[in-house]
Amino acid sequence: MRKLWINGQFLTGDQPSRQAIDPATEEAIGEYCWGSPREAELAVSAAKAAFAEWRRVPGAERAGLLHRVARRLREDLEQLAIDLTLETGRSIRKNRGYVEWAAQCFDYYAELARHYRGRVIPSPEPSQLSVVLKVPLGVVAAIVPWNYPLLLLAWKLAPALAAGNTVVIKPATYTSWVSLGFAKYFEHFPPGVVNFITGSGQEVGEFLTTHPDIRMIAFTGSTVVGQGIMRRAAEEMKHVHLELGGKDPLIVCADCELEAAARAAVWGGFLNAGQVCTSIERVYVERSVAYEFQECVLELTKQLVIGPGIDPRSEVTPMIRAGERDKVIAQVEAAREAGAQILTGGRIPSNRPKGYFYEPTVLTNVTEDMEVLREETFGPVLPIVPVEDFEEALARSNRSQYGLGANLFTRDARKVKRFMEEIEAGNVWINDPLIDNVAGPFGGMKRSGLGRELGQEGFEEFFETKHIHWEIEGGIKPWWFPWE
Ligand code: NDP
Repeated sequence: MRKLWINGQFLTGDQPSRQAIDPATEEAIGEYCWGSPREAELAVSAAKAAFAEWRRVPGAERAGLLHRVARRLREDLEQLAIDLTLETGRSIRKNRGYVEWAAQCFDYYAELARHYRGRVIPSPEPSQLSVVLKVPLGVVAAIVPWNYPLLLLAWKLAPALAAGNTVVIKPATYTSWVSLGFAKYFEHFPPGVVNFITGSGQEVGEFLTTHPDIRMIAFTGSTVVGQGIMRRAAEEMKHVHLELGGKDPLIVCADCELEAAARAAVWGGFLNAGQVCTSIERVYVERSVAYEFQECVLELTKQLVIGPGIDPRSEVTPMIRAGERDKVIAQVEAAREAGAQILTGGRIPSNRPKGYFYEPTVLTNVTEDMEVLREETFGPVLPIVPVEDFEEALARSNRSQYGLGANLFTRDARKVKRFMEEIEAGNVWINDPLIDNVAGPFGGMKRSGLGRELGQEGFEEFFETKHIHWEIEGGIKPWWFPWE
């Protein structure tokens, strides 16, 4: 049974344990301890106590500990990929890659830990030194969703530790088993620096986000939960870092490599059964090539292999739970009733009675009053909308409450320039969706969130900034009282 990890010890807590479920089979794959506010309190006080020493540990030493996490993740890559596949349902092939990306994230922030603590700026007074000093915040609560339990954890935990904070991690309920399995990669840290607890979002999550000793909440999840966290954090002015939902558009221009755009749409729309915050959820294609593009998307979609993630041939893997699938079915059915046409998909595959599978679904005749074009769809659904030109596509892309990612396929540099500057999204992909880079910032605009993860920007989030004005000579200044 996988246990909580608090103050350098594995604990069971006093709640009944829970079963982890494989979304591909609906069967139990393991057991894990379930936490309550009592264990959360233990974790926060351990993290608070550990912070006093951890903040003083030299950057180079912290770097060594973080590099060791990366090494150990790589050593266990295959087993970790299997565990991730079993509990998230995602493809084993992709999970191998995600373990490597997580390892790279620890390596990257290890190096930043070695060389960054702020900067020295010119002072207005010749006898003074002005130092912009970066200091850690204190105890950080990292609240992680179920779709990328290791990668999204790494994006928070690596920079938080590199900056000198201590951390309490609460994974999503659906992926608590795999997440508790990550605790052993932090056994070489001083007790209390890293703590893994479980428990429901409403109980343990809210307990953490309102706890007076938590100085920062680093959260990835839905917009509605993020909004609640921000409201509650306002009470004590906690730092919040919010990576929330999206409704990413893809604009397909007539001048682009059309088959590449169609393949990209299928990839970006159906990877991880569409349960990616930056999955493609709206396609705006220039009318002159819309039919050709749509036919190509349909042909590719019909060839996709639906199956469990543990089979490396499976391309469309199950959704996380029946309830999440029901939300997607409701959106698609509402669109159909309002006049949308389902070109392919729209059903639970008949040869998959077990598991939370849903066919990759391509829609057309969709209008902006339909939820499927307005609200996030966390499933494998791709609505295609023909438009007159790039201008219309850009305007429609920006007519959304979300602003996480956006994609453009074109060879026209003028369109790229307009898009780069005017699209309302934090992550912009030209001719290649979903590509990530640990060295560059990731995050959203509008209701897709606040702040950035990854890169130098993602490091800055985990510091408090002080401006030190240091008078070195120490004499009396002529501008002080009493005035002559
Ligand atoms: P939720 O917002 O429901 O949950 C995310 C995490 O928050 C879970 O650990 C959850 O715990 C916890 N939580 C739930 N309620 C509260 C609360 N009241 N206070 C504190 N914590 C709480 O999102 P999902 O897990 O359903 O994840 C899917 C969402 O995440 C999608 O909207 C997606 O777009 C977004 N996402 C965004 C990404 C980005 O980078 N922008 C990346 C990946 C996903 P529990 O599981 O116990 O409820």
